[in-house]
Amino acid sequence: MSEILIKIDSDRSISDVFQDNCAALEANGFQPVTTHSLKDSKVVFVLGGPGSGKGTQCKRIVERYKVTHFSAGDLLRAEVASGSEKGKELEETMKEGKLVPLEVTLGLIEDAMKRSGDSPSFLIDGFPREINQGLEFERLITPCCVVLSYECSEEVMMQRPLERGKTSERADDNEETIKKRFHTFKESMMPVLNYYDKEGKLRKINDGL
Ligand code: AMP
Repeated sequence: MSEILIKIDSDRSISDVFQDNCAALEANGFQPVTTHSLKDSKVVFVLGGPGSGKGTQCKRIVERYKVTHFSAGDLLRAEVASGSEKGKELEETMKEGKLVPLEVTLGLIEDAMKRSGDSPSFLIDGFPREINQGLEFERLITPCCVVLSYECSEEVMMQRPLERGKTSERADDNEETIKKRFHTFKESMMPVLNYYDKEGKLRKINDGL
């Protein structure tokens, strides 16, 4: 049985005293904060055009597996909602259906991963949307293990966000912006898909063709 009163001689160096603290706490079942680094985590990228079902599928995956989910778009919308200067610039870019700068998205994702405690695995949807995002992420954080790519017809990719736009507060779920988002998607996504295909990590999933 562990002792209740533990006397620690504090007339010593800080690290020696700290050692005794740790021994006392661990004898009572305290777990040290792990030195889990993002490099050891498992990362899945989830890709698809507007309305291809990334968000919906991720919600279901999270219900079944121990994985922390982030949506690049949600992190960006949270930054816009914060009213920051950076957020105002992002809002303009997002209304144009264009991609926001790499360092912004990557920074938000890295922060979110660090804040998630000791999560061993991550599902990141809407990222990477251009090949440099993927290469930088993998260089700075960790290589992904698999890429889920939802394939969807152009018609469905228009219809779903338009439907969602009737009730959502998203500023980019209108016909004009959806067309621009779709154009950006087609333009930037091919090199990403080709790259992960060559790496043997791409899993194509038909979601409404
Ligand atoms: P989504 O929520 O995935 O439909 O993304 C909404 C918008 O956020 C996109 O049209 C882009 O303007 C921006 N966005 C989302 N993900 C990224 C990303 N990985 N890189 C750059 N911009 C992004």
